[in-house]
Amino acid sequence: MSQSGEVSISCLCGAVKQTVVLRSTESGSGPLGVDLCHCYDCRHTSGLLCVSYAPIQEPLSLGSLVTYPDKSTQPSITASRRYFCGTCGCHVFRRSADSDDPTRGSWEVATGIIIEPIGTDKVDDEKDEPLLRYSRHVNIDSTKDGGLSPFIKLAEETFPSTNSQIDHGEDKDSNATLEAHCHCKTVRFFITRPDASSRLPRSGFPDLTVPFATSPQDVITNPHDEKWWLRPQSQDNPNLTRYLAGTCACRSCRLASGFEIQTWAFVPRNAVPLDFPTLQQTYSPLRGYESSPGVFREFCARCGASVFWHDVFRPDLVDVSVGLLAAEKEDGARAERWLDWWCGRVSFQEEAANGRGHIYHLHPYRLMCVSLRCRVFKIDSTPGELQSSRA
Ligand SMILES: [Zn+2]
Ligand SMILES: [Zn+2]
Ligand SMILES: [Zn+2]
Repeated sequence: MSQSGEVSISCLCGAVKQTVVLRSTESGSGPLGVDLCHCYDCRHTSGLLCVSYAPIQEPLSLGSLVTYPDKSTQPSITASRRYFCGTCGCHVFRRSADSDDPTRGSWEVATGIIIEPIGTDKVDDEKDEPLLRYSRHVNIDSTKDGGLSPFIKLAEETFPSTNSQIDHGEDKDSNATLEAHCHCKTVRFFITRPDASSRLPRSGFPDLTVPFATSPQDVITNPHDEKWWLRPQSQDNPNLTRYLAGTCACRSCRLASGFEIQTWAFVPRNAVPLDFPTLQQTYSPLRGYESSPGVFREFCARCGASVFWHDVFRPDLVDVSVGLLAAEKEDGARAERWLDWWCGRVSFQEEAANGRGHIYHLHPYRLMCVSLRCRVFKIDSTPGELQSSRA
């Protein structure tokens, strides 16, 4: 860790740029351990399947951050409060309930927005002691299926158990809709099963399945018009009744959410019957941020949950934040009756390492890649048309 424990932080739009001071470890040396929390509150306020915060001294400025729950409407609430950027939706701080006792270190910073340590001259990613390390998974039980924990193997922990009894087969509710909602439930919608119209969108491959940096352009563009977002119900059932889902470690997702690992489901617009232009009106609960020209990220203006990613180049297909899915009571937080998880790669995993090797002891994307190679988690081969058309 840098001498002072000072680190610079920033959200995607830059509005919350400032310096915070990490609280040192008990011994005063070594990386600071942080938990990966999989609880309901963290999933539905972030839109992700898990989040991580690191303890800090009280921040100098809360600037224009939005507070959830709002102090003015719930002044006596004892639960923790989260603070997010009202412009880009990035989660920044969390203040726990015991905040009246300053000795208990109750302020925390979302780990994904830590940009760099202050006061170190030249950082050597390989040799320098890193700032943080993931120490444990917490609140896995509320996911029912383990959530994202099987993807992230922690060195000092036995592998998280998952419910191997999950039946991915079609059941009597297979045609029902799947509810998605943010924590405050201001943003709430339903996803429908694929139908004939789900084949209408055209789209190049996502970086998740075809890495942009290393693949030829004529492959990325998907010249044979494969409907890669439609996936079989199971290995035994080839009906295309599910959608593709995967993880993303790109810089924009990290700084828009506040956390290292975003989880997206690729869903045709017709299966998410929402009127985007209307929803983006003033006073709408869904606020949009144009993260680059023609690329939009929507989040809940009240609780800060990431909701959608979409762009003008692929208008008929949207990315839906998996943490919003209300599947934890049925098959589990990964919603595998609806989603087929791509386990071959973390989208933009190369970006996760860039300049952040000194932040983490073992970077999340490396953890995930290691876990994926272990194949402890159930990995479907690439079934359906994607595989057959490449063979
Ligand atoms: Zn921002
Ligand atoms: Zn939590
Ligand atoms: Zn909300």
